Amino acid sequence: MFDNLSEKLGGILNRLTRRGSLTEADVDAAMREVRRALLEADVSLEVVKSFTDKVREQAIGATVVKSVTPGQMVVKIVHDELVATLGSDAQIIDLNAVPPVPIMMVGLQGSGKTTTTAKLARRLTQRDKRRVLMASLDVYRPAAMEQLAILGRDLEIDTLPIVEGQQPAQIARRAIEAAKLGGYDVVLLDTAGRTTLDDEMMAEAAEIKAVASPHEVLLVADSLTGQDAVNLARAFDTQVGLTGIVLTRVDGDGRGGAALSMRAVTGKPIKLMGTGEKTDALEDFHPSRIAGRILGMGDVVSLVEKAASHLDAEKAAAVAEKMRKGQFDLSDMREQLLQMTKMGGIGGLMGLMPGIAKMKSQIAASRIDDKVLNRQIAIIDSMTRQERKNPDILKASRKKRIAAGAGLKVEEVNKLLKMHRNMADMMKAVGRGKGGPMAGLAQA
Ligand code: GDP
Repeated sequence: MFDNLSEKLGGILNRLTRRGSLTEADVDAAMREVRRALLEADVSLEVVKSFTDKVREQAIGATVVKSVTPGQMVVKIVHDELVATLGSDAQIIDLNAVPPVPIMMVGLQGSGKTTTTAKLARRLTQRDKRRVLMASLDVYRPAAMEQLAILGRDLEIDTLPIVEGQQPAQIARRAIEAAKLGGYDVVLLDTAGRTTLDDEMMAEAAEIKAVASPHEVLLVADSLTGQDAVNLARAFDTQVGLTGIVLTRVDGDGRGGAALSMRAVTGKPIKLMGTGEKTDALEDFHPSRIAGRILGMGDVVSLVEKAASHLDAEKAAAVAEKMRKGQFDLSDMREQLLQMTKMGGIGGLMGLMPGIAKMKSQIAASRIDDKVLNRQIAIIDSMTRQERKNPDILKASRKKRIAAGAGLKVEEVNKLLKMHRNMADMMKAVGRGKGGPMAGLAQA
């Protein structure tokens, strides 16, 4: 389903990875192309906008780790944002309730609802060893009831006997009663769909939901219908309330927009996907695997991950060694401040050291937020290498120059220098303690 999008994104990002350096304008140009590719894949406009904004912001703020190119970093950022857009962690069908657990299937006619009901019943029976009862609540199309009965016979899964003249809510009640009496673990309710969204269908679904108190309400949506599927999900969620979505026909040539927009627009997870007509063609929806499939650049992503974790470990060891020797200069402090911004606050290396706990609370008390951290980094960036190594040479005129360079007041420079002195002193003190936390860390 993602072939076209995959090809386009691959092309855009491949061009980036081959370059030695990237400017903000390069990132902007790439994001414009990504934006177009996503829109062509029928991803909803709001999702596209937020996606490219987030990627752009991270790409421009990112520190490029050793041994990867800036373009490879961008690939990793795009990958991570795709995973987040698709819903981060895989969400499974929740059976954690007193049996029989009612699961209600809703959706438009032809979306694959009945087939999916049978697929789910098969998986719950064969893989999860549950006893499942299926019931068709489609009183408008006798053929639909018969279709489920036939699927049940093929799969050797029980279906609720058909009783003419009953209303959907009555059938739901009867199904749950029968499931209780028969000792079933799960009861699947296959509701009637319409060809388009209509109020009657919603009212009926809401009534069935009230009667059956389903543990899961799953919308079965055809991925080929793109944005219509997303609008449908939104409507069902507000009017009936959903717990998850099953995307069908993922094996088809849909453009991927539904899969990419669904989670972000509705806030509801895609739990399963249908990948064929047969009853075994049902798969869990794993955001990271799907992102991998869309991007097709798994090797670059893992390369960057590896490089980043190596680099962090190297940096941590180097800083720990300096601390031990009492050589914590302003470049090291800059590194620490940067780590803090990355971690969204006080954390990182410092968070790992019990001896620094006191300082952590001190810093926390001075309410350091990202803005403050960035200002402090800007001050250090305005210093020469020599000044960073040896802050003692910073007299009035140098401080003035640095303050002007960072667009701040001299007071702020003084504050930063005082903070650095405090940090260095404390680290020296901790470092001297034999067998203290620092010693252990330096060896690690
Ligand atoms: P309902 O009206 O929503 O109950 O839809 P059905 O379950 O009757 O499905 C309609 C058609 O779609 C049938 O021919 C199914 O075999 C087919 N179908 C359902 N799910 C999938 C899927 O994931 N992939 C493909 N290729 N076909 C599917």
